[in-house]
Amino acid sequence: MSGVIVILKPDTPRDARAVKAVTDRAATFPGVTARVHEVAGSTRSLIEIYLIGSTATIPTAAFEEIDGVERVVRISEKYRMLGRHKGQVEAVGFEYQGVVFDQDSLHVLPGLCAVDTPEHAEAMFRALRSAGIATTRMGAYKPRTSPYDFQGLGKSCLPWVFELAGKYGIRVIAMEVTHESHISEINEALDAAGSPTGVMLQIGTRNAQNFELLKFVGQQNRFPVLFKRGMGITLEESLNACEYVASEGNRNIILCLRGMKTNLGDPHRNFVDFAHVPVVKRLTRLPVAIDPSHSVGRKELAPDGLTDIHHVTAQGVIAGANMVLVDFHPNPSKALCDGPQALTVEELGPYLEDIAIVRDAYLKRRAAAAGATAAA
Ligand code: PEP
Ligand code: MN
Repeated sequence: MSGVIVILKPDTPRDARAVKAVTDRAATFPGVTARVHEVAGSTRSLIEIYLIGSTATIPTAAFEEIDGVERVVRISEKYRMLGRHKGQVEAVGFEYQGVVFDQDSLHVLPGLCAVDTPEHAEAMFRALRSAGIATTRMGAYKPRTSPYDFQGLGKSCLPWVFELAGKYGIRVIAMEVTHESHISEINEALDAAGSPTGVMLQIGTRNAQNFELLKFVGQQNRFPVLFKRGMGITLEESLNACEYVASEGNRNIILCLRGMKTNLGDPHRNFVDFAHVPVVKRLTRLPVAIDPSHSVGRKELAPDGLTDIHHVTAQGVIAGANMVLVDFHPNPSKALCDGPQALTVEELGPYLEDIAIVRDAYLKRRAAAAGATAAA
């Protein structure tokens, strides 16, 4: 399987002559199809044209000579759209609701594992606003291990969740969907509420290889996708799952590490896999999120006064994580889902301070590494 990416000069508009010149040239090669992708970055945009099909014998010079082409990269790897291709392509991220998600940024999304009452949702939003945070998580559709457990409020809570989110200046809510009908419900509820906020569609670990759902979220462009790594499959399989989304047209994807299912991780709920943050950034262009709550599963205090959740958050952030998806609840003992792993709203401020300390250390490490490389 091979392919070719033709990268146009930065900030080339979609209707530029170069775009047509490349696609016209591609059409002269039998069995080759061209797909144009616009990558909207924070500071600039980039057009990449993918040539797929019988590309093995295409001479790259045929495209390099076209005016406006910056580079032509031959790709033989699996992750055609999302891969880094040995550093030959850039890790351009995306902007959604005025928030930039890329391999350099860091956003914290503290929120309810499952929406339960308007009072709890509002207390959460209020705490976020006081902390200056505009990104959160709120589950309306909960995939539960037992059919007798609380399954989430479903579409009935969407109107007031969106309205309250807008009231408190929340821009992005990560919300899991387990069926394509949930996306229509979210679309309708957002439209009915006048789009006071934005939604990032979360694909849960249990659906990591639900290819029809992956294709469905890939075919829409209204919402970015937060893909949770499959808990019992290889990293390669999870990255291929993201490629399913991208190959359908939606490249606004974030990969979230959330721990692997194995008893070897005991006493944590899952074996924490945040050592893979830099690995995913090297292999792909995806921003990488960590979910310390579902990794650890319990709010236990270590003898140093920090919870295991704080510790693994720090491990992900110091490794360069771009997003932290984390469970909070105003009253964890009343939570209908995952109360034991939820931090309280009073703990939000100190938790964010802890993250700021570690983020600062990460940025210093990165600067030191860059200095060492420059000096070498
Ligand atoms: C969640 O984030 O609410 C969740 C169910 O996570 P996961 O799919 O990683 O188990
Ligand atoms: Mn949960």
